[in-house]
Order: sequence, then C-alpha cells, then structure tokens
Amino acid sequence: MKIAIMGAMREEIEPILESVGSYTSSDHAGNTFYECRYEGHDLIIAYSKIGKVFSAITASVMIERFGAEKLLFSGVAGGISKELKIGDLVMASALCQHDVDITAFGHPYGFIPEGSVMVDADRSLIDLAKEVARSMGVDVKEGIIATGDQFVASAERKHWIEATFKADALEMEGASVACVCANFGVPFFILRAISDSADGDAGMDFDTFLQSSAKVSARFILEMVKRLGN
Ligand code: SAH
Repeated sequence: MKIAIMGAMREEIEPILESVGSYTSSDHAGNTFYECRYEGHDLIIAYSKIGKVFSAITASVMIERFGAEKLLFSGVAGGISKELKIGDLVMASALCQHDVDITAFGHPYGFIPEGSVMVDADRSLIDLAKEVARSMGVDVKEGIIATGDQFVASAERKHWIEATFKADALEMEGASVACVCANFGVPFFILRAISDSADGDAGMDFDTFLQSSAKVSARFILEMVKRLGN
C-alpha cells in the first residue's frame, strides 16, 4: 500500500526519515517529497510548512501526484483538555477550523456552506491506533482537534475554542488535511503529541518541547505503519 506520512515542520518528519533507512527525494510545488520502502509499504513523506494552505497543498500532491492511499499526520499541538500534558498523545476523532467565521450570515462558527463544521477521521485507523497504543503500553486520547492559522498563546482564545467546538487540542494543519483527504476519499489519521498548553507560556514551552514531542508522535506513527495490512 502507498502510505503518506506528513508533518508541518521539518522537526516533525526528521525522526521518521531517520528511522526508515534509505530514501529518494524529489521536489514538487514548493516541497520536497521523500520516498522509500518500509515494512512492506511504499511511503511518501513530506513536511508542508505551517498552516492550512501549505498543508492542503502537500496533502493534495501526496494524493494526486504520488497516489497515496492512506494519509497519516504526525506532529505537535497545543493541549486544551486537562487530561493532556506535554508529551501526551491525542488522535483526532474529528477536526474543525476554529478560525472560519461567516457567522454574519447566521452560520455557526467553523461552518462553510456545502461543508460541515466537523470532518470525521477514519474509524478503522483510529481502531488500529488503539491496538497499537495497547501493545506499546501508552495512552492516546481520542478527541476533537481544532485547527486555525494562529499560534494560540492565550488562555482566553483557548477557552473560547474549547467552549465553541468542545476541542481537546489545537494546531494549525489537521482540519485542512482532513478536508483534502475527505474530498479525495482517502482515509486519514491525525496524531499529535502535546508541545504546550496554548496559554501565555505556549511560545516558550513550544520551543522547549517541539523536538521531544515530535519524536513521541513519529514513533507511534511508525508502529502504526508496521501494523497496516497491505
Ligand atoms: N516556532 C515556529 C512556529 C511554530 S507554529 C517558527 O518560528 O517557525 C506551531 C506549530 O505547531 C504548527 O505547525 C501547529 O500545528 C503546532 N502547534 C503547537 N502548539 C500550537 C499552539 N499553541 N497553537 C497553534 N498551533 C500549535
């Protein structure tokens, strides 16, 4: 099976590239795409750069040009749920865009006509992740991930996102990747390890924990790849 693994930042895919052995690379649409064989699968790996636009481009290219049949996202996020501490894993059951606002026309926050506020992730990949978590002896919280083109470093904004979308974590790429995959009919899975708590300390915590949290997420994603059937 051809599996896409994507991150937003170089630090999010470096631990994956370091683990897969030899790979080739090619440039397209402003990104570098890495290809290799791993555990019986063809992998296509890339980081998109930060935000909804760049991540949508990368996910589209992985599907349309490289023929990805499933897409797994590995990265870091700001935690909202009190259960999520720095380094903990959260997988999206559904994702939304917290910065979409056409409420002036009577629509709810996050809603785009002919779309939906929430995009559901693939249930069988979530079930596989639960099995992997059990066998690794780690906890992975399942929850709603809210995405927007903002680094949230404010308790007030974070609580608004929690109240409006019942979100457990927030980041800047998951919902755009989810929209691309849903529109192309490609099953997807979004995993994040917490790097900060999206409050006043978020910037400093992010810088401190980006690399260690990115590794936690990457390691889990590679275990999932090993368990994916052909
Ligand atoms: N320090 C970086 C910018 C990081 S932006 C630089 O200067 O280049 C934060 C990245 O991590 C995004 O890709 C986002 O998906 C994720 N993220 C982690 N914590 C976040 C938070 N509190 N708010 C929004 N995104 C967050």
